[in-house]
Amino acid sequence: MRRPLVAGNWKMHGTRASVDALAQGVSRMEVDASIDVAVLPPFLYLERVQQILAESPVAVGAQNCAKDAWQGALTGEVSAAQLADVGCKLVLIGHSERRQLFGETDEVISRKFIAAQSCGLMPVLCVGESLEQRQAGRTLDVVSEQLGNVIHELGIGAFSNAVIAYEPVWAIGTGLTATPAQAQAVHAAIRAQLADESPSVAQAMRILYGGSVKAVNAVELFGMADIDGGLVGGASLNADEFGAICRAAGS
Ligand code: PEP
Repeated sequence: MRRPLVAGNWKMHGTRASVDALAQGVSRMEVDASIDVAVLPPFLYLERVQQILAESPVAVGAQNCAKDAWQGALTGEVSAAQLADVGCKLVLIGHSERRQLFGETDEVISRKFIAAQSCGLMPVLCVGESLEQRQAGRTLDVVSEQLGNVIHELGIGAFSNAVIAYEPVWAIGTGLTATPAQAQAVHAAIRAQLADESPSVAQAMRILYGGSVKAVNAVELFGMADIDGGLVGGASLNADEFGAICRAAGS
C-alpha cells in the first residue's frame, strides 16, 4: 500500500506577506494521518515557511537544486546540501519549466537527482510530454525516454528513495487536465517500465499526477490504481483549495 503524497509547487509566486498568509493557512489544514503533504516555496522564503510549519506535519521542499551537491563557485545556484541545511525534505527535479525554459537535459537532471539524494533529499522526478508529442502519438515513448535516461545514468537503485511526477506539459497551468484514464495509462506504463528493472521498486514507487489538479477533479484522478497523489501548481496557492485536494488524497 503506497502512502499518497500531495505537493504544492508555489513556483515564483508570492511576497513575504502573501507567503506568510499562505503558509499560515496551510498550517491550519487538518492533514489526514494516512497521507504526506509538502509545499515547495521559492528559495527565498523556504526558511520562513519552514518556521511557520514547524509544528505541522506538512514538509517543506524546493523546486530545483544545483547539479553540484555541496558548495562552490556557482553564482546564483542553490545546492541540495544548502536546502537540506534549512530543513528541506524533498526537491523537484526536471520540472517541465526547467526543461523547456532553462534547457535542462536528462544528463543535467540525473546529476541534480543524485545531488539531492546524496544530501538526504527526496528527488521528485518530473516527466511528461508536450501537446505536439501527444498529438503525434508519442506520449509513452517520450515519458519512457525521459525516465529511461535517468535510470540508465543512475541505476534503478537510485529510485528506491524517490518519487516520480507525471505532468503532461499541455496540462500545466492551462486548465486542461488529463482525463483520469489518460493519466492512469501513462502511470501504468511508468510502473511497468520500473518493474522491468525492479518489481519491488515499481511496487513501492509513488507516481504523482500534475497538471491543473483542482478540488473538483482530484477525487477521480487520485482514485486511479496507479495515481498516488498529486503535484499541484496554481491550486496550491489557495490554502482552502489545497486542503480540499489533500482531503481527496486521503479519501
Ligand atoms: C506544476 O507546476 O507542477 C503544475 C502542475 O501546475 P498546475 O497545477 O498549475 O497545472
